[in-house]
Amino acid sequence: MKAIFKPKPEQGLALGESPIPEIGPSEVLIKVRAAGICGTDLHIYNWDQWSRNRIRPPVIIGHEFVGEVVAAGKMVSQVEIGQRVSAEGHITCGHCAYCRTGRGHICKDVEIIGVDRNGCFAEYISINASNLWPVPDEIPDHHAAIFDPLGNAMHTVMAEPVGGKSLLITGAGAIGLFSVAVARYAGASQIIVLEPNAHKREIAQRVGADLALDPGDKNIEREVLARSDGLGVEVLLEMSGNPSAIEQGLHLLRNGACACVLGIPSDRILIDWGREVIFKGITIKGINGRMMFDTWYQSQNFMLKKYEPVDLLITHRIPFDEFERGFELLKSGEAIKVVLEMNNQSG
Ligand code: NAD
Ligand code: ZN
Repeated sequence: MKAIFKPKPEQGLALGESPIPEIGPSEVLIKVRAAGICGTDLHIYNWDQWSRNRIRPPVIIGHEFVGEVVAAGKMVSQVEIGQRVSAEGHITCGHCAYCRTGRGHICKDVEIIGVDRNGCFAEYISINASNLWPVPDEIPDHHAAIFDPLGNAMHTVMAEPVGGKSLLITGAGAIGLFSVAVARYAGASQIIVLEPNAHKREIAQRVGADLALDPGDKNIEREVLARSDGLGVEVLLEMSGNPSAIEQGLHLLRNGACACVLGIPSDRILIDWGREVIFKGITIKGINGRMMFDTWYQSQNFMLKKYEPVDLLITHRIPFDEFERGFELLKSGEAIKVVLEMNNQSG
């Protein structure tokens, strides 16, 4: 089968041939129809420090997808051949203390498809049947392919009630922009976005932000205070991983507020802990992956109701074989979400 993989410990990816995966008794074989390119795939492409520490080539990459079940192991009873599915890409151990208490998203021994084991940038992928998410007919393939990043946004927004509250979102990449749309849907009263890229700021306003500013703008504090009763925002969603955005975001929070932090800094960061956290009495919630499967139900309900923002944020649908173009579009900042399609011949 065709597959996009990291062949060697160096920059770049290759399109090549790989055997169709075998399936175990509790696994299914899925014929992939469409797959989303994530920021993580870009890190693996670039072979940055994180990838060097984590990835063991050769490995097929990719973890956001939709496909069709074509074979199932003998222990699998809950899914039919031909069923269209997406899947949770975090493979949990199922028996650690976290898994046993409904917190598989922080499993002690998690493995991620396309990172720690072969992923979905291929004609076929095998995965545990318990990770499958059957997709209703109303959700088209290119939308179903991005349940994973929408789920990251959903998990972050739902970590703290935002209804009727003022919100600051730092970073309007794909996940930050999905968060804007979800926060609007969840009833936030004010959504302020900080993002250096002007094109992304404009998209943030189209998907529901009240105001989108450059993080270097001199008027930020004044604007934020004017829109938050002179106190600062009630919730921060940190979606950039940039140390200065984390610092700025915490600074713009009011006392007693909550920061839900998803963005991953590339190194340790420096924070004025006493001033921004302790004396303000704020709560910081680290967000990892998606709740299994609470977030998936929430994301599906969102997709069924809110077609337009999802469609707007999938800026490019391109043939699988042209993946290099997809990575270029993401690197240049032109694309928000790129979906690779197996049956797309058009280019
Ligand atoms: P992305 O790179 O597309 O988006 C990050 C955005 O932050 C970019 O648009 C960038 O311009 C913006 N940014 C940079 N500096 C900024 C600053 N000073 N202030 C405000 N914005 C700034 O990434 P993404 O795919 O949307 O993911 C967002 C973050 O979440 C990344 O750090 C990623 O590694 C992380 N992530 C975490 C999880 C998790 O489970 N915790 C899962 C997926 C991704
Ligand atoms: Zn576990």
